[in-house]
Amino acid sequence: MKRLNGIHLRHLKNTQDMKTVKLPLPDRVTILMSQNMGAECSPLVAIGEKVTVGQKIGDSSAFMSAPVHSSVSGTVVAIKEHLLANGGTCQALVIEADGKQTVSAEVVPPVINDKESLVAAVRQSGACGLGGAGFPTHIKLNFDEKTTPIDTLIINGAECEPYITADYRELMENPADVIGGARMLMNFLKIPKTKICIESNKPAAIEKLKKMTSSIPEIEIVPLPSKYPQGAEKVIIYSATGRIVKEGELPSAQGVIVMNVSTTAFIFRYSKTGMPLVSKRLTVDGDAVKKPCSVEVPIGTPISEVLSFAKAQDYEKILAGGPMMGLCIYDTSAPIVKTNNAILAFKKAKLPSSTACIRCGRCIKACPLDLMPEALEKAFDRRDLAALKELKVQLCMNCGCCTYVCPAKRPLAEKNQLAKLEVRN
Ligand code: SF4
Ligand code: SF4
Repeated sequence: MKRLNGIHLRHLKNTQDMKTVKLPLPDRVTILMSQNMGAECSPLVAIGEKVTVGQKIGDSSAFMSAPVHSSVSGTVVAIKEHLLANGGTCQALVIEADGKQTVSAEVVPPVINDKESLVAAVRQSGACGLGGAGFPTHIKLNFDEKTTPIDTLIINGAECEPYITADYRELMENPADVIGGARMLMNFLKIPKTKICIESNKPAAIEKLKKMTSSIPEIEIVPLPSKYPQGAEKVIIYSATGRIVKEGELPSAQGVIVMNVSTTAFIFRYSKTGMPLVSKRLTVDGDAVKKPCSVEVPIGTPISEVLSFAKAQDYEKILAGGPMMGLCIYDTSAPIVKTNNAILAFKKAKLPSSTACIRCGRCIKACPLDLMPEALEKAFDRRDLAALKELKVQLCMNCGCCTYVCPAKRPLAEKNQLAKLEVRN
């Protein structure tokens, strides 16, 4: 098996031993109707209406969608257009919390007794890839076992970005939920084995999970080398099974489904309680944060409240996500969404200026997908769409390895992101 490219980063997991604490309830939440990959939901409630925790407040009939639920009890005070980090917009419900956290009558454990009822329940839960990707989970689980039989469930606990420890805390605090979720998925989806994959820089989690699964032969704990981007879907599939997901293929074509650790544990809890996805564990860290922490936050909480809880000061740059793939936040009144796993605050925002490419080839050696980032950049600068396609820009997963290693500080990953859009358009 070929050794994958990638890079070694400082782990900076400052919050790994910090138990998750709950953020005090915010006065208001802003719940976006677009929280994950796929179609935007339409609001199911009107201004002035009372809502309760776990009540469905947005849904869509589109195939690629997942419903949205209220994280607080209170009153809908506004429905407005919200500007997203990618430049798009979506509708958002502003809910004034009454502080009572009254739970909705809709919150009842689902009846799950076969694949269809599991897929339906997972859709109702509002689950999506909680590692950051945001792919609606029920679509992933609704594979056709006749055309694409699945023999391996991979539970992704790599969490390879610096700083972020949200999945690690899930493994340490709720390992039985992770294992229970894996067994539930194996049972109803008829998948014979599970590999729970954890980077080797998390020995306590590996040991804990190994002990707890020692009498479950169909679950294997797989320690993976600590190398970024080990948690990327195609990378973890190759590392865990040696299988290569080809261009245009879904992992199911290779007999594999990949589920994030926190998503798996959440689905298990949902099957027991019926409480949909209304809160999220976040890592809050960065050199502008005085009190780094793991914190559970109601979805829709303003980022500014998370930052002030962690005593962030004098920051110039805020990231939602890790330093490699996170998105810059331009407005701290923006709300927490389902796919957030970290809020990082840094004092310096300035990037080093770039110089001419010296053709050293480091970007090519670093690319986990064997792409040619320097050639891609040149093709993008010429707006040569045919060359971009030939160089497979669509495969780029924007991991940032090429940008990170480039001695000339060329914005390679950033240009690939723009190039992919041009090719798609
Ligand atoms: S950002 Fe794209 S081109 Fe650069 S290393 Fe990652 S996958 Fe390769
Ligand atoms: S790493 Fe930077 S300087 Fe080296 S070949 Fe790639 S783009 Fe050019």
